[in-house]
Amino acid sequence: MAKHHLTRRQFIAAASAGPLASVASKSIPAYGNMTNKTKKLAILGGEPVRKNKSWPQWPYWDEKVVDSVVKTTKSRVWCRIQSRTGTVPTFEKKYADLIGAKYCVAVGSGTQALHTCVEALGIGPGDEIITSPYTDPGTIASILSARALPVLADLDTESYQLDPDDVERRITEYTKAIMPVHMMGQPCHMERFMQIAKKHNLKVIEDAAQGHLSEYQGKKLGTIGDLGCFSFQSSKTIACGEGGAIVGDDEELMDKCYTVQNHGTSRRGRTEVAGPKYRMNEFEAAALLGQWPGIVERFKRRNENAAYLTMRLKDVPGIRPQKWYEGTTSGSYYLYATSYLKEHFNGVPRDTFLKAVAAEGVSLSPYIKNGLHREPWVEHILKQPVYTKMFSARRLREYREQVPCPRCDQVCEEMAMIWASGPLLGTKEDMDDVADAIIKVYENRDKLARVS
Ligand SMILES: *Cc1c(COP(=O)(O)O)cnc(C)c1O
Repeated sequence: MAKHHLTRRQFIAAASAGPLASVASKSIPAYGNMTNKTKKLAILGGEPVRKNKSWPQWPYWDEKVVDSVVKTTKSRVWCRIQSRTGTVPTFEKKYADLIGAKYCVAVGSGTQALHTCVEALGIGPGDEIITSPYTDPGTIASILSARALPVLADLDTESYQLDPDDVERRITEYTKAIMPVHMMGQPCHMERFMQIAKKHNLKVIEDAAQGHLSEYQGKKLGTIGDLGCFSFQSSKTIACGEGGAIVGDDEELMDKCYTVQNHGTSRRGRTEVAGPKYRMNEFEAAALLGQWPGIVERFKRRNENAAYLTMRLKDVPGIRPQKWYEGTTSGSYYLYATSYLKEHFNGVPRDTFLKAVAAEGVSLSPYIKNGLHREPWVEHILKQPVYTKMFSARRLREYREQVPCPRCDQVCEEMAMIWASGPLLGTKEDMDDVADAIIKVYENRDKLARVS
């Protein structure tokens, strides 16, 4: 792995070279001998960089996946409680091994995994969990489903991750847990989150829905906090349509997770607590087991391509790849994300830049348009009896005042990313197309002034 990957220092150098390089040079050697300036942008009627080529499709399937699902169909074991050796229990063992956790409980989605953890930790009405506004709605849905209060903290603008300092500032007497989200598949600043949790006696639920196989200080994401959650929804880097998993080392707590997601019925067959029914079904696990042979290989391929892209983009002023925290042993790529800094592109708006790159045959996306702090749920829950009864008017007033997350807004405005699950499985030439399209647009940025 390591020999294919940039070291952290190279990566940080690459990530920070962009803005500095703008001062030193205006032409970019990485594009080879072609002089882009003489090449007309496709958005202005020129030849696109990439034509008539497709990207690797996602979700992945091959005959092994099909065989595995067919086998489950024919076995008539379609539900996990029909057999101890069915696909779901088998998947749980294999996934725990892959991630380096003692136990795994499979469920129906990443959102279900997170909600199960919140319930298993006994967190509910009157309690608060601090998490990120820059995430899938499932993250806060898991907290709202337990009728706990999601408190959103602001981001670090270069890593797109929760800012530990802002998390610490938002701790109240009601805070029970932190839910760090490993965005794009790269690790959060887990060392700080674990220190903060210890100091304030909080639980840590890792939302590693995007971070399968990513590693921090030598440990896989999901195994650092008290519990870790994954998603296998279609777009994720390991996918079965809808699916999720919880990992952990604490036998009693993981047993509780099993009980919660099994409508409160424990492995011993007694209905013991209140809980939803979130069991993963055997077809989902069959699809996951069928793709097992290539999982690690695909993960390495994405990492190699990402490192190559970062190397190609390092001299482009105004394109800043996602920052990694110290301690990141290996990333994982659900998205290859960069910040578009328009001041280096003659002030060309981000959306015009995205259109120009798209015309070159490379699709970059703004991803999440608005942080969750800007969604209507905030006003909705502030009127819900469970919140007005469990929290004082003063706490809810303060909560509303603390909703703004300006650094999250900035991240949403600057984001320019490429989906990684399929596209980053492409060839080196595919990656060259991505870099060449961006560089071509950079070099012709002065011609974009009147495009909108
Ligand atoms: C996808 C995702 C979820 C939710 O997972 P589902 O399986 O879609 O319910 C939660 N958090 C993050 C960061 C995600 O990307």
